[in-house]
Amino acid sequence: MSRITLLPKDDRSNGWSAILPRREPRAPLACDTSADVVVIGAGFAGLGAARRLAELRPEARIVIVDAQQLGENASGRNSGFAIDLPHNVGSSLEELRKGHAYMRLARAGIASLRQSVRRHGIDCDWSEDGKYHIASSNRGVEEILEPTVAELDRLGEPYEWLGREQTASRLGTRNFAASVFTRGTVLLNPAALTRGLGDTLPENVTLYENSPVLDAEFRNAVTLRTARGSVRAPKAILAVNGLAMRFGFWKRKLLNFAAHASLSRPLTDAEHAALGEIKPWGATPANAFAGVTMRYTNDRRILIRQNIHFCPGLRQSDERRARIQADHQRLFDQRFPMLRGVTMEHTWTGFICLSRNGTPGFGQVAPNVWSAVCQNAVGVPKGTISGRLSAEMALGEDSPLIADMISLGTPTTVPPRPFLDIGVRGRLAYELFRNRHER
Ligand SMILES: Cc1cc2nc3c(=O)[nH]c(=O)nc-3n(C[C@H](O)[C@H](O)[C@H](O)COP(=O)(O)OP(=O)(O)OC[C@H]3O[C@@H](n4cnc5c(N)ncnc54)[C@H](O)[C@@H]3O)c2cc1C
Repeated sequence: MSRITLLPKDDRSNGWSAILPRREPRAPLACDTSADVVVIGAGFAGLGAARRLAELRPEARIVIVDAQQLGENASGRNSGFAIDLPHNVGSSLEELRKGHAYMRLARAGIASLRQSVRRHGIDCDWSEDGKYHIASSNRGVEEILEPTVAELDRLGEPYEWLGREQTASRLGTRNFAASVFTRGTVLLNPAALTRGLGDTLPENVTLYENSPVLDAEFRNAVTLRTARGSVRAPKAILAVNGLAMRFGFWKRKLLNFAAHASLSRPLTDAEHAALGEIKPWGATPANAFAGVTMRYTNDRRILIRQNIHFCPGLRQSDERRARIQADHQRLFDQRFPMLRGVTMEHTWTGFICLSRNGTPGFGQVAPNVWSAVCQNAVGVPKGTISGRLSAEMALGEDSPLIADMISLGTPTTVPPRPFLDIGVRGRLAYELFRNRHER
């Protein structure tokens, strides 16, 4: 039996849900119940798994339990990019080598989300706007953007190269030396999408929110206990992201990092005009750790995502978040000097799970447990598809996409603490120093 000693905690900082109307959560688990399959975790992975299970077995009873409310986890706190291409050359070489498999998976994840959004009319600002990969410095252009386009050529993917002036006319800031535009990324409000997916699950799925699993037994049957109830099922899907280690799986294989984003207040008509009446856009940095992810949203807010640090305890202090908010404001002011007086209205923390070799925690991990965890910071498409494919595996189905997923590999072991902390923090500090020209 695994006693779960570290639980997710909602610090109520999430800006994406703060700008949405209030939502009543589903009731917590308060009885002893059973299911054909139980899914633990209601992020993109768990919601993808539950929906796929229900599609394939409409007569089965599926239960999904989550410690928090829909949209308050990493899935509801990200920057809202559903990206169809490998992230960038520096962060994910292994995935780049498997570029085509990766793209098939990401595009299948996006297609499934698109289908749910259209079928159920999910109001989440779904915008097929593409994205800009940006470099601030000439060194960033040479070291990251030029290799990126070489990779896109190799993959046979179309793109548009934009110099400083063209980038400025699209993004409304002269901060960038160049950018590469690709068409396949979707931009969205992740809290609205996560809520919408959870609220439109098929009838044979029962979702329990605010129901942390406190202990779990994975024997012939799976038994999960919460404070006021339990679920028993012959099979389980584990979709708890970096907390999978607490359930006894992927031990010393997953690394949890805190990541931060801010949303400004909406720009006025005059401020929008000062940017050049531009269209909404999303931009990912040449270096994911040192650079700044940004968006100009449909409701005219600017998003800033910067500051990632190793955080195995999955807690962040309000004081540190306040310092990060001041830093985001400074980054915003540097990029948009014409928008003086526009402040960051919300700054939040979310937790991302990475593996040392950039691979997912996917597949069968015990006779009756399948795993869809560790999305390496691109969980909107990858979490969705890994959840769906783990559901297919659990039901004994096979598909070429499962083979693609398995071809990405599995996480390698990391050193024990405190060597791990020293190694990860040292590596991160080196990355930040080496790419300081991109900040
Ligand atoms: C600031 C930030 C920006 C990001 N930007 C992007 C982006 O633009 N695009 C992108 O694709 N990805 C992005 N990511 C990463 C992305 O958000 C994650 O990869 C993805 O949300 C992971 O989804 P998941 O379903 O695997 O996990 P989660 O969303 O973390 O869901 C796991 C669920 O498990 C539940 N759980 C854990 N333990 C228990 C327990 N004991 N009992 C019950 N439930 C439990 C949690 O409550 C949680 O709801 C970003 C992340 C952050 C933080």
